[in-house]
Amino acid sequence: MPEVTRFAPSPTGWLHLGHAHAALFAQEAADGGRFLIRLEDIDGTRARPEYEQAIFEDLAWLGLEWELPVRRQSDHFDDYRAALAKLEALGVLYPCFCTRREIQEEIARAGNAPQGPDGPLYPGTCRQRSADERAERLAQGEAYALRLDVTKAMAEVSELIWKDRAHGLFKAQPDVFGDVVLARKDTPASYHLAVVVDDALQGITLVTRGEDLLEATHLHRLLQELLGLPVPEWHHHRLITDENGKRLAKRDDARSLRSLRAAGWTPDQVKEAIL
Ligand code: GLU
Repeated sequence: MPEVTRFAPSPTGWLHLGHAHAALFAQEAADGGRFLIRLEDIDGTRARPEYEQAIFEDLAWLGLEWELPVRRQSDHFDDYRAALAKLEALGVLYPCFCTRREIQEEIARAGNAPQGPDGPLYPGTCRQRSADERAERLAQGEAYALRLDVTKAMAEVSELIWKDRAHGLFKAQPDVFGDVVLARKDTPASYHLAVVVDDALQGITLVTRGEDLLEATHLHRLLQELLGLPVPEWHHHRLITDENGKRLAKRDDARSLRSLRAAGWTPDQVKEAIL
């Protein structure tokens, strides 16, 4: 069945075999439908234009074709602001003034902090603050992130289900990440918010990505419901690993598509290596 799929790399390093697998997988999953690329570059401190250019070159070398224009997240902060305003109106966001260090200290103090897929969960320090204290700190211009009050948010919706084509049906457990950051101190978005808004705006019907992001989907399903967005299906695929079974990382330069190409590999050899 024709689908709308996307490959959504961050231009923060060279693409490697894992990306090639993800991109080819997404294109094939479109099944004659539409295949899009999205640049996930909201992390302005790490995204670089030369990596962006390299993404297009490497994908074209692999023989991929995609629709234009490519959506670049940093061009669309207004879309994320609008989504935040909706969540704010539902009363499910709160400002968080904590620094990374304060959070670590609080976690160490509390001992035995519950763990999420990305590490210890935020201990909820700023959730408890009084309206007066919040107002005062905001008035003083203190920097803040916006966090989702996940317990409150879950109370707004009934039970949520989502479908993964490889792993079956899931009952959403959006609290696995605790009170996640939806807007960072320096950026009016975070990965979780932007991905959900963009997939809806781009009309994605089948989200394909690596299994490392399977748990994130629990949260994405909740955000879609709160924002009244259409619900796609998902296909979380396997990750490409090195010969020691370790997941490839952007810093493994030896496995970047550029260095393989420079070493004489052909696109077919790349495809064979990731079959
Ligand atoms: N930008 C994400 C990554 O490079 C992919 C996010 C997604 O496909 O949802 O891992």
